[in-house]
Amino acid sequence: MITITTPQGKQVEIVLERELCQPVDTGEHVRAYCHLHGSDHQRSLSINKMTGWGHCFNAACQATVLVAEWNRPVAQHLLHSYYQGLTSAALPSYQPPHLPSWHRSSVVQPLLLPLPKTIPAWQQEELHMLQALDEQMRWALAHSQRAQLYLHERGIPLTIAKTSGVGYVPPALLERPDMGKERELLHRWVDRLLFPLNSPFGRGYIGRSLWHWQSGMNEMIHKALLERPGSPKRWIKTNPAGWFGMEFEQLPDTIILVEGAFDRLTLVTAGLPAPQIVALVGTAVQVEWLPAQVKTVVLALDGDDGGKEASSRLADQLAQAGLRVQVCLLGKNNWGKDWNELWQHLGQQSLTPVFEALSETRSA
Ligand SMILES: [Zn+2]
Repeated sequence: MITITTPQGKQVEIVLERELCQPVDTGEHVRAYCHLHGSDHQRSLSINKMTGWGHCFNAACQATVLVAEWNRPVAQHLLHSYYQGLTSAALPSYQPPHLPSWHRSSVVQPLLLPLPKTIPAWQQEELHMLQALDEQMRWALAHSQRAQLYLHERGIPLTIAKTSGVGYVPPALLERPDMGKERELLHRWVDRLLFPLNSPFGRGYIGRSLWHWQSGMNEMIHKALLERPGSPKRWIKTNPAGWFGMEFEQLPDTIILVEGAFDRLTLVTAGLPAPQIVALVGTAVQVEWLPAQVKTVVLALDGDDGGKEASSRLADQLAQAGLRVQVCLLGKNNWGKDWNELWQHLGQQSLTPVFEALSETRSA
């Protein structure tokens, strides 16, 4: 167990799973005797399995705990900022002597707990089925003229989509004789491009519908078509969902946050380093998700009012968490509100603001 104090002055007890005293699984939560104040009459410690965060309900204790293995990214982030605070402030030569081995370890381990029970069974099943079909969905993308034409018209080369793990679910895939339950459960994923997502709770997918899309149909028209009553949703996600980008452990010290999956592919196509680019795909920024090695964030969100508002809100939130922030605004123009629309019309020059923002982070 390690007691740390967050920059906001809050005390958090970071504990290991094996330190929990006679834990019992109660579904969404695990209850345990509180080893912090030494109770053995009531299991006053309650920990949310999904987030790893817990609380002691004993009035005299009230401890806030985080089970490290259940939320590795947050535990690492907290520990890292804590020790960094100590080393850079009063104790320049201080070296943390007794960091537990899991802190130093860069080995990627899955969360020890299965998906929390709060996720409905059908969503768990849906996710497992999609994961099992991952390779076949990628193969399908590499062999579908329709999906490739769509990517091409959005200015994304097939090679970029392939190396980013994008897949496609053609109708024929679910009509195969070996597909049973999949046909029904994955029906809503048919004729979609799938982008793999990462979160501290595991991998997921977001899927973009190509329903009734035809060559030559631009994004605005297709969007309007999908917004008509009775049309499939433009985007759907698994539970858990997450961000479209590298696995958390592989993120470099400077990352670029964009809004959409196609924005990320656009930036990669333009020559920005893929590991640096993370698309939020509608998932809120949880600062705790950012692994400790991330120090600088370039915000390159959409140019509409929503994007601008999110940008300034996020900039504050990230700065408060001790990260360096560089805001890159997509200026007013006649071509579109996101990087992909701009890219389709203006090509390489549309990404100049992102390259500039990135080089400013290097020179600062
Ligand atoms: Zn307690």
